[in-house]
Amino acid sequence: MYQCTGEEILRELLQHLGLKKGEPKTEEIVRTSICIPTNMPYVNNIWLRRKRGDRPPVVPEGVTNLGLLGQYVELEREIAFTFEYSTRTAWEAIYRMLKRGPAPPDVYQGQYDPKGVWAATKVLLGLTKT
Ligand SMILES: Cc1cc2nc3c(=O)[nH]c(=O)nc-3n(C[C@H](O)[C@H](O)[C@H](O)COP(=O)(O)OP(=O)(O)OC[C@H]3O[C@@H](n4cnc5c(N)ncnc54)[C@H](O)[C@@H]3O)c2cc1C
Repeated sequence: MYQCTGEEILRELLQHLGLKKGEPKTEEIVRTSICIPTNMPYVNNIWLRRKRGDRPPVVPEGVTNLGLLGQYVELEREIAFTFEYSTRTAWEAIYRMLKRGPAPPDVYQGQYDPKGVWAATKVLLGLTKT
């Protein structure tokens, strides 16, 4: 990947999307796109080992005037990386410190949702398209 040009990366992506090389649509996309390879060496850091105590809670114990936001704050059962995670830290900080607005909803636990489990099973078994 590091040695690829932008066009090569774009073509790789298009192929995964089912757009074959040489087809008019594919070539039009390639011709009209600007693809500049960008190295993001730290992008995976959100997925570093995570255990209790690694990340501070939204409102650290004993603190009354500081809320912590973002990916590096602990939210139990929530999955780091998503926008939802960061947004929830802000929501929780406001709710807990200012006692204002509705409480954040419970973290969705897809593994206990029969509908979600069934949908994932169907994808795994190739019974439906993703
Ligand atoms: C390639 C990629 C794809 C992604 N795809 C998805 C996706 O499909 N769905 C999804 O939910 N999430 C996705 N994410 C994750 C999502 O982008 C982040 O979870 C989200 O942006 C985190 O928001 P944030 O406000 O906590 O932090 P950030 O968006 O990182 O904002 C932090 C801000 O603080 C600024 N900053 C840092 N240090 C300082 C400083 N010292 N002084 C002043 N400003 C500073 C930064 O410049 C930045 O603007 C993706 C991330 C990447 C990199």
